Amino acid sequence: AENTPPAVDIVDLSLEEVRALALSVLRKAGLTETQAAPVAETITLCERDGRASHGLLRLPGCVMTIESANFNLQAEPEVSEPSAAVVRVDAGFGYSLPAFERGLPLLEEKAKALGVAVLAINNCFHFSALWPEVETLARRGLAALAMTPSHAWVAPFGGIKPVLGTNPLAFGWPRADKNPYVFDFATSAMARSDIAMAGTKGETLPEGCGLNEQGNPSTVPAEVLAGAMTTFGGHKGTALSTMIELLAGPLIGDMTSRDSMEFDAGEKAAPCHGELIVAFDPALLGGDDPALNEARAEALFAAFTDQGARLPSQQRYGTRARTQNTGVSIPRALYDRITELGGE
Ligand code: NDP
Repeated sequence: AENTPPAVDIVDLSLEEVRALALSVLRKAGLTETQAAPVAETITLCERDGRASHGLLRLPGCVMTIESANFNLQAEPEVSEPSAAVVRVDAGFGYSLPAFERGLPLLEEKAKALGVAVLAINNCFHFSALWPEVETLARRGLAALAMTPSHAWVAPFGGIKPVLGTNPLAFGWPRADKNPYVFDFATSAMARSDIAMAGTKGETLPEGCGLNEQGNPSTVPAEVLAGAMTTFGGHKGTALSTMIELLAGPLIGDMTSRDSMEFDAGEKAAPCHGELIVAFDPALLGGDDPALNEARAEALFAAFTDQGARLPSQQRYGTRARTQNTGVSIPRALYDRITELGGE
């Protein structure tokens, strides 16, 4: 009996139940079907893949965002075609996810006609992981990049004041008969939600994740959240993050993380700004020997896995294979919070 692990207070849910819970909370908060369905879907995909930080845990924040002054409950994404290679979707101050869904068919069509195409999403509230978007494109045979700013929480290398967002970058590469190669990460040394979670658990952070308000390195979550986070990889991560600010901001006529934070005016809604997605068609760019190109890419991956290194997303795909049948477990405290928000 001494070795019996303590009972964990969890609730088991099928993926259908996860989706239904998310949908009911979002509808109750006032979202239209246009907005609620893709948001609930992405939350469900994150639970399915064991990425709880972007799953049901996000619902309370979604409700705060929906109730914030800048959010447009009537938002309907509007698609336009500024040029042959560009799709623009004005999210209309609703969520990014319905805008992505609306722009996707035209992005795919243009990338397959031209070899490369860009989807520029403007005026979107953004809380979500980017891997579902690049994975979707990769499953349609396209290599893809996605990036977005957030709020100015991250100091540039060599500085102490927050300027940059946590700025995630995702990439997808299609593989015949296999799950695509996908990575998706924040360019901050640690994701902000992970820092907050460490704080809740009373843990300290690894060295190098942030600075206190005086600009000195700190491993105390509360100090870093009040001070500044840092980018991964020193000056290299800072430059990459800056690129994301520019490409998913001023390049496509939208806000930087600093602008977005000012726009929020302390409401603590999800960041609101743009998102850039670029899709490449290997069939058009790869020349006349697609089999050789595929063999070269696969040899690259094999050189990783042959020596025991894993590819990014392998853990997600592994979790997915299990939870599709078993469903998922979430902490009872979270379940109770969601039912208080109207989840059924
Ligand atoms: P992680 O560091 O958890 O993971 C980053 C990537 O690296 C994943 O693709 C992961 O694959 C892979 N990976 C992890 N460990 C290894 C390993 N040992 N070998 C090979 N690959 C590995 O990501 P972050 O914490 O930085 O970001 C989490 C999420 O937060 C992202 O989805 C991001 O989009 C999101 N985010 C969203 C923001 C927004 O404003 N919308 C802002 C910032 C972040 P696997 O999943 O299989 O472990």
